[in-house]
Amino acid sequence: MTVMEETNRNLASDLYINGAWKKGASGERFEVVNPATEELIASVASAENSDADAALDAAEIAMRDWAARTPRARSEVLRRAWKLITKRQEEFAQLITLENGKACVDALGEVTYAAEFFRWFAEEAVRADGLITHAPNSGARILVQHKPAGLAVLVTPWNYPAAMGTRKIAPALAAGCGVIIKPASETPLTMLALMPLLEEAGVPRGLVNVLPTKHSGALVDHMLHDPRVRVVSFTGSTNVGRKLLHSAADQVLKPAMELGGNAPLIVFSDANLDTAVKGTMLAKMRNLGEACTAANRIYVHESISDAFTTRLAAAMSQLKVGDGTDPLVDVGPLVNADTRNKVAAFVDDAVAKGGRLECGGVMPEGKGFFYPPTVISNVPETAACVNDEIFGPVAAIQTFRDEEDVINRANNTEYGLVAYVFSEDMKSALQVCEKLDYGMVGLNRGIVSDPAAPFGGTKQSGLGREGGHEGMLEFMETQYISASW
Ligand code: NAD
Repeated sequence: MTVMEETNRNLASDLYINGAWKKGASGERFEVVNPATEELIASVASAENSDADAALDAAEIAMRDWAARTPRARSEVLRRAWKLITKRQEEFAQLITLENGKACVDALGEVTYAAEFFRWFAEEAVRADGLITHAPNSGARILVQHKPAGLAVLVTPWNYPAAMGTRKIAPALAAGCGVIIKPASETPLTMLALMPLLEEAGVPRGLVNVLPTKHSGALVDHMLHDPRVRVVSFTGSTNVGRKLLHSAADQVLKPAMELGGNAPLIVFSDANLDTAVKGTMLAKMRNLGEACTAANRIYVHESISDAFTTRLAAAMSQLKVGDGTDPLVDVGPLVNADTRNKVAAFVDDAVAKGGRLECGGVMPEGKGFFYPPTVISNVPETAACVNDEIFGPVAAIQTFRDEEDVINRANNTEYGLVAYVFSEDMKSALQVCEKLDYGMVGLNRGIVSDPAAPFGGTKQSGLGREGGHEGMLEFMETQYISASW
């Protein structure tokens, strides 16, 4: 049965607890809407606290056996999951487009990225290396090993309904942990549809549970106060991240926080313009700008700003906007009316304060939460979009003259997720990268996300890293044994 058939038959719209579909104790449901048509796609079960208790009971039991399995045995299950998702990537992409709206090309990119976390962490599962060494003074041996941290609560956003989940599930399973995942209420269907596939891959019953809900705050808070939970891994806004950190403090949970961004993208005078425009298109328009990594402030050296702006506006104007299921469409709708209205307000504000509209900027009429690719030049420092995530297809351009000035402006934010630099002078470009207070920097590239690399931010963009070797360690505790023999 395909993912779409399962969804249509309503099989994948209930809670997934202990390997079974459940209606939920309250019987409450909430609606998921197609952002391109505003039509109802599914009515999804809403979890309440007693459902969370059942999921935690199941995960606790399943984890005992899973954590005791050899790393190789865990690794092979993860590798099968990678293969199965890859085999069914078109179906998952269709489902992502249906509930999130993104164009099918973006959805397919997401599925590949999402699946890759299973392959990468299948490889990492067997590399939880420890250490043995001599204590310098006491003569003892120092033995260091990593053990599964315990049950993990995973909370994910709507912008990548598959990848933001697999980026947490795969390392948690590699480490030996059981999980409860609470997907975003806008896009719960993809994560639910993934569950039969994980079963097929050999993930034991109860180890992974999915709890969509319309009571996110209460449900997550309840789980974070259960003594069996040891990890909270969250991707979403900084505001909600702060709340979860407060809740996590009560039981001193291990937090992994992937929060908001306000990425600067700097184009120096010696940049290759083709590379810079192509990179900016990727950094801005991947996932139609609904990405924490999206270039939010574009700083272009004044000597090349006219040429750069003209070329960027031309490239943005060529993008086809429409229902993401159409393979010719580049830019689907935004996820909901609020997100679209926020993007429109950013544009209106920037233009009212002196920004110049180079293309786009007019909200279309009719059904669907569409907004056209937009370029604004001459954006003033006081514009709201300079300080806040735009989270939409709007490129906001400013100019600079002096390197130190642009670095200071780039760093002048509470966020520190990712920055982009375009320059052909590698020595000075790398010096600039080091001065940028960001967890990640794209150098002559518009994409940094890679399952093999540690993804994460500094300052209020978060705590911890996902992917790379670090990703699995977020779900492990380090134990040190001081030994004499
Ligand atoms: P959000 O913070 O509103 O929601 C994220 C998740 O938290 C959803 O599942 C939501 O239902 C849940 N949630 C909301 N309130 C909650 C509460 N009080 N307690 C517990 N859970 C709660 O974010 P969003 O609008 O879904 O996503 C957009 C944000 O996510 C942006 O700020 C973006 O930068 C950020 N993001 C960050 C990364 C990263 O890796 N750093 C990746 C993707 C998105």
